[in-house]
Amino acid sequence: MSPDRDTECIFCKIADHEIPSEIVHETDTVVAFRDTNPQAPTHILLIPQDHIEDLTAITDDHGQVLADIVHAAAHLARAEEIDEGGWRLVSNVGPDAGQSVFHLHFHLLGGRKMSWPPG
Ligand code: AMP
Repeated sequence: MSPDRDTECIFCKIADHEIPSEIVHETDTVVAFRDTNPQAPTHILLIPQDHIEDLTAITDDHGQVLADIVHAAAHLARAEEIDEGGWRLVSNVGPDAGQSVFHLHFHLLGGRKMSWPPG
């Protein structure tokens, strides 16, 4: 496992192909895989290859990986053919937002009409 990974982290294990997942996109900096409990017809999680706990842990050094994640999300939205209907990219941070995995991830959701504000 790379030194930038956390041996106890389930998403680091997915990035390392140590546990199975449906990976749909993979680069040196970003991994994207289908959520096992999908909340929309398209529900993909995008994560940095390196272990970053959440958005509060972002530093000036993380600008490129954040850009890579957003770029990958737009690419996947086109690949999933949800780009015309619309899509949402969201990252839950902390207990009030319902964060349950402490490796930074963005949910790419689409394929159905979504309401606002979220619950
Ligand atoms: P959050 O609650 O925002 O931290 O999101 C964590 C997401 O990870 C949830 O939507 C879970 O369904 C998803 N999840 C947890 N374990 C796995 C896994 N092994 N493979 C894919 N998705 C997972």
